[in-house]
Amino acid sequence: MSDFDLKGRVAVVTGGNGGIGLGMARGLARAGAAIVVAGRDQAKSGKAVGELQAFGVEALAIAVDVTDEGAVDRLVRGTVDRLGRVDILVNNAGTNIRKPAHELQLGEWHTVIDTNLTSAFLVSRACYPFMKAQGGGKIINIGSMMSIFGAGFAPAYAASKGGMVQLTKAMSTAWARDNIQVNAVLPGWIDTDLTRNARREVDGLHERVLARTPAGRWGVIDDMSGVAVFLASPASDFVTGTAIPVDGGYSSMS
Ligand code: NDP
Repeated sequence: MSDFDLKGRVAVVTGGNGGIGLGMARGLARAGAAIVVAGRDQAKSGKAVGELQAFGVEALAIAVDVTDEGAVDRLVRGTVDRLGRVDILVNNAGTNIRKPAHELQLGEWHTVIDTNLTSAFLVSRACYPFMKAQGGGKIINIGSMMSIFGAGFAPAYAASKGGMVQLTKAMSTAWARDNIQVNAVLPGWIDTDLTRNARREVDGLHERVLARTPAGRWGVIDDMSGVAVFLASPASDFVTGTAIPVDGGYSSMS
C-alpha cells in the first residue's frame, strides 16, 4: 500500500466548496478519502460534492458557519454519524476585510478573526475526542504569506494567520501523544475568488505578485493538493507543528 493512500479515511474540509479548499479536497479524494464539504453556500457545496464523487469516493455537504460553536459541533457529530469517523480535518475557511487598522471597525476585526482563527480552534476541538478514540488524526491549518509578512491593508487577516501558526504549534504539542499531527500550510498567492477580490481592491497587486514570486506565476488551486495528501497520509506521521510554504518561492526571496 502506498504511503499516500487515504482509502477508508474521512476528511472534513471547511470551505471545501471552492478555491484552495476544493483544490485540497480534490487531492484527498483522488487518494481515496471520503470528503465532507463544510461551507455556507449550499449551491457551491452541491457542485463541489458532485465533482468529488466523480473520483469514485463518498462525498457529502454539511452546511455550517464555522464561527458558530453549536453548528461546528453538529458538523463533526454529523460527519461521524454519517461516515463513521473523522481522520482528517482541513481548517481552510477564511475571509478578509481589506482596510488599514485606523479604518477597521471592531465588528470587522471580529469577523476576520472568528472566521479564520477561532473557527480552527472550534473545529479542531470538536474533532479531537473522535480522533483520539480512533488512535490518531491529521489536522491541516491554512495560514498565509501573512503568517510571516505583514500588509498594511490586512491587520486582522495577518493577525489571524500569524495566530494560525501558533495555534498549530500549541495543538500539535498537546496532541502528539494521541498520534494526532497538526501542521500548517502557508499558501502563496493563489488564484481564487478571495484574491480576485483583492486584485480588484488593491492597485497593482497582480503585477507585484508576479514580480515577487520566483516561479513567475500565480498559484492555481491544484497546486495545493499534493501538500494536503502528504499531510493527511501516513507519509507525514513524524511531521507535526510545522508551517510549510507552498508559494512558488515567494517567502524565500528578499
Ligand atoms: P475562497 O473565497 O475561494 O474560499 C473561502 C472559503 O471559505 C469558501 O469556500 C467559503 O465557503 C468558506 N467560508 C468563509 N467563511 C465561512 C464561514 N463563516 N463558515 C463556513 N465557511 C466559510 O478563498 P481561498 O480559497 O483563497 O481561501 C481559502 C483559505 O486559503 C482561506 O483561509 C484564505 O485565507 C487562505 N489563503 C488564500 C490565499 C490565496 O492566495 N488565495 C493565500 C493564503 C491563504 P462559503 O462560500 O460556503 O461560505
